[in-house]
Order: sequence, then C-alpha cells, then structure tokens
Amino acid sequence: MSEFVQVACPACLAPNRVPAVRVAEDPKCGKCGAALLDGAPAELREDQFESFVARTELPVLADFWAPWCGPCRAMAPHFERAAQQLKDQVRLVKVNTEDAPGLAARYGIRAIPTLVLFRNGVEAKRTSGALDAGALTRWVA
Ligand SMILES: [Zn+2]
Repeated sequence: MSEFVQVACPACLAPNRVPAVRVAEDPKCGKCGAALLDGAPAELREDQFESFVARTELPVLADFWAPWCGPCRAMAPHFERAAQQLKDQVRLVKVNTEDAPGLAARYGIRAIPTLVLFRNGVEAKRTSGALDAGALTRWVA
C-alpha cells in the first residue's frame, strides 16, 4: 500500500489524501470536517456519485437500491454491518435509484439491489440480489 490513500468526502466531495496508517482512525475531511471513513454507508446523490468514485482510491462498493424494494430493505442492516467490518478497506455507498434514474440507466441497473464494486474508479464486478453481511464481505474480497 502507498503512503497515502485518496478518499472523497461524502459531504463536499473534496479529495482528501489520508496517510495509509490513519485510514482506520476516523479521518475527517480537511475542507468541511465531515467523517471520511466512519464505517457507515454514504448516501450519494446522482450529481455526487461519479465524482466520489473517481476521487476515491479505496475500492467503492455501491448498493443500487430503491425504497419500494423489499429485498433491498432486508439487506440494508447487512450492508451497514459490512460497512463497519470493511471500514478501512472498502468505501460502501448507497444510491437510491428512484432519486437517481440517470445513474441507474448509465450503469445499466436492471434489477435491484445491484451491487457494483469499483476499483480506481472503474467497475470491477457486479452482482444482483441481496447478500447478507458475511456474503458481502466475501464478495468484495
Ligand atoms: Zn468535506
């Protein structure tokens, strides 16, 4: 691992260079003070998502979901648990496809939940269907 890892702020999208040794120490955004890696999934809007992914060197796991989707709601606590378990390794984010139809179309989201893993801003893999916390952490490994 390099000396610094860049992560985008989920609030203001500022790219922050965090010393690799500090990633697990609840780093804050240098611009707005928001928590960068607090172990909770970041809810991203359509206008935030691509900048966030492009500015984050940690792998980003995106959950494309919708409020009316039962399996999505069932997976939510598992996704939160996985975010806590993976907090210094993978950035977990959620995209409400109801509020971000353009994004869902751009990424070809045909079923929800769909999980997409990005590495260095590029899609590495995806899967559809709800996973529990254990399966989520195994899937991103
Ligand atoms: Zn910020």
